Amino acid sequence: MTARLLLATRNRKKLEELHRILAPEMPVEVLGLADVPAFDEVPESGATFAENALIKALEAVRHTGLVTVADDSGLAVDALNGMPGVLSARWAGHQRDDAANLALLLEQLGDTPDDRLGAAFVCAAALVTPDGSQVVREGRMPGRLVREPRGSNGFGYDPIFVPEGYQLTSSELPAADKDAISHRGRALRELLPFILRALEGPDGQ
Ligand code: IMP
Repeated sequence: MTARLLLATRNRKKLEELHRILAPEMPVEVLGLADVPAFDEVPESGATFAENALIKALEAVRHTGLVTVADDSGLAVDALNGMPGVLSARWAGHQRDDAANLALLLEQLGDTPDDRLGAAFVCAAALVTPDGSQVVREGRMPGRLVREPRGSNGFGYDPIFVPEGYQLTSSELPAADKDAISHRGRALRELLPFILRALEGPDGQ
């Protein structure tokens, strides 16, 4: 059977990023969840990004039998002791509304001084193979928040996040520039050799 790689995310924008970063490096067909028979979403019950990434990847492998990569990511704000963290997608409620999440976060930051608006995007990327082997790698993109959303690229909190060393928000950066420095790009590039090895192995089917 031909080797294939599954990118297990239900977030369309995130899938675009995962695909953009990984697909050019892959010697095999790269699938999304829309390309495999549907299965129910598993609750993200982990306390860490790594646990949640593994939960998602393990569930997808169980249902599809494919070599799978899944990520869990979020924004850790210094002034909020690392929150919203693993709750980033559901910060304003279970509807996972990016605009509502961003508005709530800005409201909570209220009169926090500008020099205390440090934050980092964090991503844990998990590789799980049908024979049960697991590898997780984490990537970070440090930066700071701004109160006025800017830009139309990316998703989530990108319009209020300025990466360290930049003046533009990650929503104003061209996609390739974000990928080069992003938490997701860093985690996936760390995972890349393990993915390539897994696809060569007996279970890469
Ligand atoms: P999850 O990994 O699907 O649980 O959701 C991650 C959430 O973190 C997203 O819904 C966004 O709110 C936020 N997030 C993660 N990565 C990014 C990013 O690259 N840009 C903006 N927001 C992000």
